[in-house]
Amino acid sequence: MTTFRSVNPARPDDVVGEYPVHDAAAVDAVVAAAADAQRAWRRLPVPARADVIAAAGAVLARDKDGLTDLVAHEAGKVLVEAGGDVQEAVDMAHFVAGQGRSAWGEIVPSELGDKLAWTTRQPVGVVGLITPWNFPVAIPSWKIFPALLAGNGVVIKPSEHAPACCEAFVAACVEAGVPADLVKVVHGFAEPAAALAVHPGVGAVSFTGSVPTGRKVAASAMETGPRLLSLELGGKNAMIVRPDADLDLAVEGAVFGAFGTSGQRCTSTSRLIVHPDVAGELVDRVVKRAGELRLGDPRDPGVDVGPVITGSSAERIAGMVAAAVDEGATVACGGETVTVPGCDGGAFYAPTVLTGVRPGHRIAREEVFGPVLAVLEVAGLDDAIDVVNSIEYGLSAAVYSRDIATALRAVDGIDTGIVYVNAPTIGAEIPLPFGGTKHTGNGFREAGTRGIEQFSQLKTVYVDYSGRLQKAQIDTHPLDDPEAQ
Ligand code: NAD
Repeated sequence: MTTFRSVNPARPDDVVGEYPVHDAAAVDAVVAAAADAQRAWRRLPVPARADVIAAAGAVLARDKDGLTDLVAHEAGKVLVEAGGDVQEAVDMAHFVAGQGRSAWGEIVPSELGDKLAWTTRQPVGVVGLITPWNFPVAIPSWKIFPALLAGNGVVIKPSEHAPACCEAFVAACVEAGVPADLVKVVHGFAEPAAALAVHPGVGAVSFTGSVPTGRKVAASAMETGPRLLSLELGGKNAMIVRPDADLDLAVEGAVFGAFGTSGQRCTSTSRLIVHPDVAGELVDRVVKRAGELRLGDPRDPGVDVGPVITGSSAERIAGMVAAAVDEGATVACGGETVTVPGCDGGAFYAPTVLTGVRPGHRIAREEVFGPVLAVLEVAGLDDAIDVVNSIEYGLSAAVYSRDIATALRAVDGIDTGIVYVNAPTIGAEIPLPFGGTKHTGNGFREAGTRGIEQFSQLKTVYVDYSGRLQKAQIDTHPLDDPEAQ
């Protein structure tokens, strides 16, 4: 069987693991195995499923240090952020396990006597998951735990850049009591993912990744019939800074939002929309802080910024920065790849601030997915909100202001799925819904109480214990009907 290697992005000669490239036949086999296992799993009471998920959270918490190191090793995230990635999966286990002992639907008074009406959720069978590399433990947890709670089997195709993290996550689930055939992993590039998306045995497809890949998955997932399809795609997230903002806070927020995870979060801050009165000071301070960030091996605890995921990512980022300069932007800092001693072949891109960016520039509209912050000077609040909303993406936005009315007007006017006040565009919490508008997503949300919706179908149940045929909308109201009293 053909194989591929997952490598350390800081030193690509360092191989993390070797994995098979699965084909469509392999996908067939695991979908069938997961479907078999699902028949027993769906009969388990929901709280019993929840107990297994809670146990998986305990295994992940026990193994947090080792998993954190694996995330840093394979995905190049610095240790504190790698630890956050794993903690998110632990938190998700707690949250989803709690949902197993909470309300699942609504009970609605029937319009007829001696009749009950309620809704519940039922599994879809086997769900097909396709995931990116940048939250290599957290994102599988966002999908796998709610899918299991709903009573499904799972087949996951993780990113070719993070297969080891996904295997480690699934191993933790199996150790906790998830039947080994219930959650299966297939590896490789586009082929197994595409085979999963069209597989007739897959009742729901959940994809997280870039817009171009998401469009392909969406088109093919519908080829073999309507099915649940959740898309969580890219972002081009903006931070508005008003003249009355606490600039200390805004500087820290911009630096963490733009350069954390080397700018490779779907929620990374990539546009700074700042009032001209404070733009000079804010940019100077962000540039100074960017220059103080230490680039290096992400497994070194003193390092602030790790590599980008591959050399071709660094080339793409460099190309976008060069195009921005051609369009009239100025490089205030960064704008180049960096060689880090001891990290041979690692693709490091310097934290970059571009000034003089206009709303029509490509760098202001397209996702960079790298440590690049484009600064746009905009005076009016409504104009700033218009700039936030002027692009195809709609994931996350932030507004910095000390004035409550300014902040709430921005919250109201911004068309993104997530808005922060006086906090950067990153930092979502598990009990709340996560997802975006416009081309960022198709309306489903991950996490929160609604995270289960993409993995289950609503079922409406009517139970008539009157002993006679009652006709909704046709029979008279029981109070007017002597027979019914
Ligand atoms: P990607 O789109 O390159 O890959 C995502 C997954 O799709 C991988 O598993 C890949 O192997 C698979 N794939 C590739 N070609 C395919 C095809 N033709 N058919 C089916 N599957 C295919 O994304 P990436 O580089 O791994 O991740 C970065 C992107 O993910 C960014 O755009 C980022 O914003 C986005 N992202 C979004 C969220 C969110 O929740 N909205 C979260 C994290 C990342």
